[in-house]
Amino acid sequence: MGKTGVVGGGASGLMAAICAAQHGAEVTVLEGRDRIGKKILATGNGKCNFSNRDFLIPRDYRGHHTDLLPRYFSRFCVEDTVLFFREKGMLATDRDGYLYPRCGQASVVLDLLEGELSSLGVKTVCSCPAERILPPKGGRKQFLVETRQGTFSFDRLILACGSPAGYRTQEGEGGQKLARDLGLSSYEMFPALVGLRCRENWYKRLAGVRCHAGISLRIGDKAQKPAVSEKGELQLTDYGISGIPVFQLSRYASLALGEGKSVFADIDFLPEIPLQDWPSFCLEQYRLCENRTALQLGNGLVHKKIAQVLLAQCSLKDTDPVDRRTKKKVFSFFDSLRRFETQVVSPNPVQNAQVCAGGVSLRDVTDNLESRKIPGLFLCGEMLDVDGRCGGYNLQWAWTSGFIAGTCAAQT
Ligand SMILES: Cc1cc2nc3c(=O)[nH]c(=O)nc-3n(C[C@H](O)[C@H](O)[C@H](O)COP(=O)(O)OP(=O)(O)OC[C@H]3O[C@@H](n4cnc5c(N)ncnc54)[C@H](O)[C@@H]3O)c2cc1C
Repeated sequence: MGKTGVVGGGASGLMAAICAAQHGAEVTVLEGRDRIGKKILATGNGKCNFSNRDFLIPRDYRGHHTDLLPRYFSRFCVEDTVLFFREKGMLATDRDGYLYPRCGQASVVLDLLEGELSSLGVKTVCSCPAERILPPKGGRKQFLVETRQGTFSFDRLILACGSPAGYRTQEGEGGQKLARDLGLSSYEMFPALVGLRCRENWYKRLAGVRCHAGISLRIGDKAQKPAVSEKGELQLTDYGISGIPVFQLSRYASLALGEGKSVFADIDFLPEIPLQDWPSFCLEQYRLCENRTALQLGNGLVHKKIAQVLLAQCSLKDTDPVDRRTKKKVFSFFDSLRRFETQVVSPNPVQNAQVCAGGVSLRDVTDNLESRKIPGLFLCGEMLDVDGRCGGYNLQWAWTSGFIAGTCAAQT
């Protein structure tokens, strides 16, 4: 029991602080920024997609040791999270499994957490980044945390510094440095839910277009088979591709690019038409649009800006007639609608990412999320090598790991 310090007042750290205090610990949260829980306010476009009922491991999580995840999620999972917030008065709403506060405001989640901290007597110290941590040594049994506001000492320490994702400054990188300085083994972090920058110059013309599409990534110069595929609302931007299906694939692109591999994305602009029906569909579309213009033919199927770029790629002018002379080009336009290749050159910078992959290895912590190297030190949230798909899975990991780290730190 005794004094427990939590470094980082984000989703996982606040959950850990609440759980430790509920088990009788005297808890202090040290937060580097001027207020706690800032990232929570930005989640789900300000609506906070705090979990997801469509939950499956390992499908929804990535990292080097996803085989270890059931031992954590079996102790605190989706329904526990719903109940945790319900007990504080919050009703959840379920949109195809995606869970949000019924009121549609992320600020409510933070308000409830803050209310709980205050009723449990948890002390929060803001604008107080931890700069150095000294684990117990020799006769000293306490952890020392050096900050700009002085040195704090704790019997147990929970590291919950998150990742650099979403920060405008370098401040989010501090957590990994603290972990490295403590000698914890950690995988390098890289942006995992993020837009992808592409080589071609046509994106300036497509910026702002959104459409339902399928996207497949091919990794390596000669790869013909897609490594991963997703469907959903694609957002075309002046730098390349974004939107939820791109976010879901972005981790694999970031990783491959970081390893020096080439990455191509094939966009399918009409994924709802089964491939076996496509040849007859094309013949019908050709017949319906014969003697009209190429742009009319394209416009009927996809957004005009997309049609124009694809027609130009097939050497068709908007005003070219659809007839015997252009038939070959028209059919190559049809092909490009189902497989439009673009080369991915980099992920967007980490400031634009929602989450980072990498972090402290799960092999370095026990089932209670206590460091194997430094007893009394616990870790939770994005600091650990666990990243989830887009859809509430990352916050669920923050709640689950915060629950375990906080409860176990207080009970050790
Ligand atoms: C724009 C955006 C939208 C998102 N939307 C969703 C969503 O809808 N659903 C979902 O599941 N996930 C979402 N995420 C991801 C989710 O917010 C994170 O996975 C989750 O907040 C991680 O919680 P954490 O406690 O590990 O880290 P964080 O929430 O990042 O908290 C870490 C805290 O530690 C502090 N800190 C860092 N270093 C130090 C230090 N040295 N000393 C003291 N304090 C320090 C930071 O200032 C921060 O407050 C989103 C992320 C972003 C950026």
